[in-house]
Amino acid sequence: MPAKMNSGSESGHPAALTPAQTLADRDLRVVWHPCTQMKDHETLPPIAIRRGHGAWLEDFDGKRYLDAVSSWWVNLFGHANPRIAAALQDQAETLEHVIFAGFTHEPAVRLAERLVSITPPGLSRCFFADNGSAAVEVALKMSFHYWRNKGETRKTRFIALANGYHGETLGALAVGDVDLYKSLYDPLLMDVITAPSPDCYHRESGESWQDYSLRQFAHMERLLAAHAHEVAAVIVEPLVQCAGGMRMYHPVYLTRLREACSRHGVHLIADEIAVGFGRTGTMFACEQANISPDFLCLSKGLTGGFLPLSVVLTNDDVYAAFYGEYTALTAFLHSHSYTGNPLACRAALATLDIFADENTIRGNAAKAQYLGRRAQELAEHAHVAEVRQCGMIVAVEIAKNKGSREPYPWQERRGMRIYRHALALGVLLRPIGNVVYFMPPYVVDEAEMDLMVDAAAQGIELATCD
Ligand SMILES: *Cc1c(COP(=O)(O)O)cnc(C)c1O
Repeated sequence: MPAKMNSGSESGHPAALTPAQTLADRDLRVVWHPCTQMKDHETLPPIAIRRGHGAWLEDFDGKRYLDAVSSWWVNLFGHANPRIAAALQDQAETLEHVIFAGFTHEPAVRLAERLVSITPPGLSRCFFADNGSAAVEVALKMSFHYWRNKGETRKTRFIALANGYHGETLGALAVGDVDLYKSLYDPLLMDVITAPSPDCYHRESGESWQDYSLRQFAHMERLLAAHAHEVAAVIVEPLVQCAGGMRMYHPVYLTRLREACSRHGVHLIADEIAVGFGRTGTMFACEQANISPDFLCLSKGLTGGFLPLSVVLTNDDVYAAFYGEYTALTAFLHSHSYTGNPLACRAALATLDIFADENTIRGNAAKAQYLGRRAQELAEHAHVAEVRQCGMIVAVEIAKNKGSREPYPWQERRGMRIYRHALALGVLLRPIGNVVYFMPPYVVDEAEMDLMVDAAAQGIELATCD
């Protein structure tokens, strides 16, 4: 049953509800929230947010929450960012949407031009979709279809990394490997080849990130050698496996992977949906390995966190394989209703303007250094197994046994305790299992970073004391 009305008095007259309680109550009667056991809301109702500003969210009682997770990694330049809002208002009064087959519009053309110019060399074509999972589906289908068009009918499989995440639709779920989201649906999913992850949390003590990532690459090399004839593409999240617990690896893995994919005649799909747009310290994570993938998937931060939009970039070779007479049936006949939505494209253009005008990537270096230094203080804690960082992503992994890294059983939901405690302190953290992480909007200042680290420290103390 949905949460009952809070009847505040013995006499049965309900006490006056605040606007926040009213909204939460109405919500629980009609809404089903994502990635949520709705029963949890019996003890912690959804928090109704009235407005946002900068890195902050404000509820109906005026209580503020520091958004340390960028609202699921989408927000880059603050909530209700005035520059993006103004661009949207202008666009809404000009052209809100138009069918994107047979028609085009300036925001989409300008955005495609700019994305081609700022992404790694060779990526020359933009195919738009409307969310991250859809972009992954597009990349998988395009790769398979490319090989078909080339007469390679045996290439029907994909290699993906253990602990990877690529979204929730069936194709994206199949190439992911986060058990909690995937295992139940296994009977519905295509059969994927899973390579061990380069995730450096598992390195031997004393072993460097580079050495461990290289050692793990040997597995990938073997799989490519054995399966290249039947594999269309390898898909990876460059540098950080975000949903898999902010697990990180060395760029050398990507450099080797690019070389091996080319040598074996297999595409490389880089899913930068989470790590793109500066999260790892460079605009795109692939830059740190100096590689160009055959497909680059972008979404999340693409619109600065304002609207759903995604894009798959690819190269001339792929594009050319689909180009021909209609009757040859080589065209990519894939579409989404809101493909290339002008409002979303304008939000993306305004976001790229901010990057350019404010030299964000440079400015973030100092913030990342500060956040990393503050978070590193937590490494001393008796139940913190590791503090790791890649650019503007900092993760703190708690464990039952610090030395052996034996994890807390997931059933204990220690991360949930940290979540609730941090909320009480006015900070939105959303631990992934035993991993507390910070992935803040780039507008955070040092005092705000102090606040999020202090809230995490208190939450970890509270959640690990028994
Ligand atoms: C979030 C995410 C997706 C899925 O994007 P949605 O817009 O949530 O469908 C895919 N890949 C990665 C790496 C992600 O982090």
